[in-house]
Amino acid sequence: MSEQNVLTLWSEELVNEDAVKTLRASCDDLAIPVDAKGTEQIKMLVDTFFSRDDGVGLAAPQIGILKKVIIFRNKGFEKREWSKEPDDYDVLINPRITQQRGDLVNALEGCLSCPDVQVEVARFPEIKVRAYDAKGNKISKRYTDYVARIVQHEIDHLEGKLILDHDGALYYPKAKQAFFDSLFHFEE
Ligand SMILES: [Zn+2]
Repeated sequence: MSEQNVLTLWSEELVNEDAVKTLRASCDDLAIPVDAKGTEQIKMLVDTFFSRDDGVGLAAPQIGILKKVIIFRNKGFEKREWSKEPDDYDVLINPRITQQRGDLVNALEGCLSCPDVQVEVARFPEIKVRAYDAKGNKISKRYTDYVARIVQHEIDHLEGKLILDHDGALYYPKAKQAFFDSLFHFEE
């Protein structure tokens, strides 16, 4: 197995400066056709994703790989145990949203890289995405509702964009209020 640690902007009440730099970077395309190095990087992302049961998606920069690769569950969200069947998750390489449809929908999102925080984020309920699959085949996919939300969240990561950058209400636990206040409202 080649699972990695998931980078977080902070640990407990300490900002991780190196992780911030990585999570804020814009990623490069992964070379197509997928070479040995790319295959290894995809495997690291898949193994890390499956080593955790607390996320519905993961982007390569979250494990320190600045390449455009994301993985996410595409169904079975109501199940207790996550399935690892190949049909139950998607790996997208160099994904690009080519169509957005519907009125923006607000919902709370969390992120493995922003522990303890939730932000209300507006997302499109339907998107079309062009990408390559894990083998480097060209694919075009349509996602709706919750999965569309996950895909938009993961694609944000590839541009260094995080839930904190969205305008919606931000929630964090009272117990850590002093720390988060100092992070998010330093002008006060
Ligand atoms: Zn995230």
